[in-house]
Amino acid sequence: MTMDEEDFAVYLLKLGELTLKGGNREGFERILQRNLAALLRSTSSQIRAGKGRFFVRCPEKNSSSVEEALDRLFGIAGWAKTRVCEKTPEQVLAACVEEGRKIAGEGLKTFKIEARRSDKSFPLDSYGICCAAGDAVCEEFPALAVDVRSPERLISVEIREKAYVYGTARSGRRGLPVGTAGRGLLLLSGGIDSPVAGYLMAGRGMGIDAIYFHARPYTPEEARDKVVSLAEIVGRYTMGIKLYIVGFTEVQKRIRERAPLPWTTVLLRMAMMEAAEKLARKLGDKCLITGESLSQVASQTVENIACTQSGTVLPVLRPLIGTDKEEIIRTACAIGSYETSILPYQDCCVLFSPPHPVLRGDPLEARVLYGALDAGALIDEALKKAELKKCGIPAVS
Ligand code: ATP
Ligand code: MG
Repeated sequence: MTMDEEDFAVYLLKLGELTLKGGNREGFERILQRNLAALLRSTSSQIRAGKGRFFVRCPEKNSSSVEEALDRLFGIAGWAKTRVCEKTPEQVLAACVEEGRKIAGEGLKTFKIEARRSDKSFPLDSYGICCAAGDAVCEEFPALAVDVRSPERLISVEIREKAYVYGTARSGRRGLPVGTAGRGLLLLSGGIDSPVAGYLMAGRGMGIDAIYFHARPYTPEEARDKVVSLAEIVGRYTMGIKLYIVGFTEVQKRIRERAPLPWTTVLLRMAMMEAAEKLARKLGDKCLITGESLSQVASQTVENIACTQSGTVLPVLRPLIGTDKEEIIRTACAIGSYETSILPYQDCCVLFSPPHPVLRGDPLEARVLYGALDAGALIDEALKKAELKKCGIPAVS
C-alpha cells in the first residue's frame, strides 16, 4: 500500500542564533541535525537541511511526537507545520486561501501575509506575493481583512526549492545546539535550582553530566530516586544525561568529627567541589555547574562562595547567581522539574546542617579547616564506588 502525500506532515524549522555564527555555522548545523535525528529516531521522519531552514517530513500520525521533539530541541528559533506546493503563483495563492479558511473558521477577523523569496526566478516579488495572496484570501472570505500593523494571524510564504505556506510559527527553545560548547558536570541535588541550572547551560550548547551526593542510610532511597527522576527530566533537553551517584556519608561523618559546627555546611560544599572536580577531569568535562543563587541561603553569600570554590581550578558556572527564586520556579515549572523538586525528601546537606552557620567565611580559614579534614582518600574511595545511572536520549511518546 502506498501512502498519499496527505498522509505526511512537513515541518519548517527556523534556525536560531546559529545562523549568526559565521565560520562555525556548518559544524553547528551538523550537531543540530544530529540532535534532531536522535530525538526523532522513533518517528519515521526524514530531515533535510537547507539554508537557514531545516525540514522534517513525517507520517501525519506521528506529528504530535515530532512536535514534542521540536519543543525540546535547543537551537531553533521557531517552527511551523507547513503546506508544500509547486512554485507557481496559482498554487501559492491556493495554499494561502486554505490557510485563510482556517483563520476564518476560527472566527478571526484580520490577517497579514509575510513573504520571502529566496528564488528570484519566481514571477512575483515579496511585495507582489503579499498583495496577490491578501486579495485572494479576502475575495474568498469577505469577513477577513488585511491588517499590516496588528494582525490576529500571520500567513507566511517562503519561496525556496519549493513553496512553503504556513500559519503563525511556534516559538522554538532558541539557544545553541547541545554539544556545541563542550561538556560540564552539574552538581545535581534534589532541589529546585540545580535542574534549572543544568537546563540553562544546555541551552548555551553544553553537554551535561551530573553528580549527586547522598548520605545513605541517613537520606532515604526516595531522595536518590527523586534525583534520578530530575536527571531524566533535565535529560529531555540535554540529549540524555549520565548521573553519578556518590555516597558521601563517610565524608560527612569526618566533617562532623573534625570541623567546628558552624563550618560544616561550607566544608561539605568544599568536599563536594573536590569530588566533582576529580570526576569532571576523569570525564573530560570542562567546568562544574551549580544551582547557587547569591544570598539565597547562608552558604551562598559571596564570601562563602569564595570558600566553596577555593580549591577548584576548573571554572564553576552558576547560571542562576543573579536570578530570583520566583523566576527560577517559573523555569522549573516550564521544563517540568518543579513538581519533582518539591517532593519532600531530605537532601544530605540538610542532614548535618548547623543551627548557626558561618555567614561570611574567610577562604584562608576555610582552607586550613578543610586541610584538617584530610578527606582526599575518603573522597577517592567514594568516587570509586559511585553508581552510574545512564538516562539515554528519551524517545518522544
Ligand atoms: P538546589 O535547589 O539546587 O538544591 P539550594 O538552593 O537548595 O539548591 P544548596 O542546597 O545550598 O542550595 O545547594 C547549592 C548547590 O550545591 C546546588 O544548587 C547544587 O548545585 C549543589 N548541591 C547541593 N547539594 C547537593 C547534593 N546533595 N548533590 C549534588 N549537588 C549538590
Ligand atoms: Mg538543595
